[in-house]
Amino acid sequence: MTASFIPPQRILMGPGPSDVPQRVLDAMARPTIGHLDPTFVELMEQIKAMLRMAFQTQNALTFPVSAPGSAGMEMCFVNLVEPGDKVIVCRNGVFGGRMLENVKRSGGVPVIVDDAWGTPVDPQKVRDAFKANPDAKVLAFVHAETSTGAQSDAATLAKVAQEHGALTIMDCVTSLGGTPVLLDAWGIDAAYSGSQKCLSCTPGLSPVSFSERAIARIKARTTTVQSWFLDLNLVLGYWQSAGKRTYHHTAPINPMYGLYEALVMLEEEGLENAWARHRAMHETLKAGFEAMDLKYVVEASSRLPQLNAICVPEGIDEAAIRARLLSEFNLEIGAGLGDMAGKIWRIGLMGHSARQENVEYCLKALKACLS
Ligand SMILES: *Cc1c(COP(=O)(O)O)cnc(C)c1O
Repeated sequence: MTASFIPPQRILMGPGPSDVPQRVLDAMARPTIGHLDPTFVELMEQIKAMLRMAFQTQNALTFPVSAPGSAGMEMCFVNLVEPGDKVIVCRNGVFGGRMLENVKRSGGVPVIVDDAWGTPVDPQKVRDAFKANPDAKVLAFVHAETSTGAQSDAATLAKVAQEHGALTIMDCVTSLGGTPVLLDAWGIDAAYSGSQKCLSCTPGLSPVSFSERAIARIKARTTTVQSWFLDLNLVLGYWQSAGKRTYHHTAPINPMYGLYEALVMLEEEGLENAWARHRAMHETLKAGFEAMDLKYVVEASSRLPQLNAICVPEGIDEAAIRARLLSEFNLEIGAGLGDMAGKIWRIGLMGHSARQENVEYCLKALKACLS
């Protein structure tokens, strides 16, 4: 007989998932109800309201997609990009590269703005791209590049797009709940995030938000959205119309309980306090790294507090250290991706993982492994 699966107790300080509070896990263990049950519909409405708080938006169309962050990304592109549309897509890490892939698969014509990994998107390059391509309809960029730990200036980038009459798609998977994400103040038209990063829920849900301008663009489409599951026109019947909700797909009921609880916890702490906690934990971790002579990949001015990318010291086998951290200390940290593989470690301070005891434990464990 195969035995039940009992996972080890890890401390998650990689690029996600982050530690999930027991309170969220307990919420997910409650009885499953029907996805059209009036009680569940009420829960959906409350999740939408709390997500508006997290995204700092009044957008009516704010809800969690029943799939991971990558599906939220895809929903933004397949709905907002029609075949032949020109899209300026910024690439300064892995996730910008995935946005590019989505533009191509949606039939869009990409205009790529490249910046070095570990640096933010350069707004001047975006201005130049709009000058050379005044017909560009969308600007797409990653706010918090989890592959490098760099944060881009979303307010400025969104303003450039507005000056050129383009819509903005922003990836805020790693920033939501960790650093300020101000959809309305910045004028972002479509944003997607993930449940398992700074919101500290389990993976598998993608909060998204769309502005009225974005909805108007979708309604004015002359072609059908190529994805049935992600077509907002269809999803809306389920998430938008309270009262006369129609079946589209079966929402993941228990994970929704988890997201609800995670958002209640964010509300209790206060969004600004959560941002301040991520910042404070980052400062403590940074002081510890500096004392160990470990260097950051990203300049201080654009460093993400929730994703600390540090250079692996000369002559160290980075994979062996990560393996030891996991086996001896039950501590997970992240490796480098792409060109940065083997050269950096990525230490996440996301959501519930951004705690004093984790910071101290991580510094202690890394010190033990490096000495
Ligand atoms: C994690 C992440 C994603 C993808 O989210 P999944 O839930 O893994 O699909 C997208 N963008 C960024 C910036 C991320 O950090």
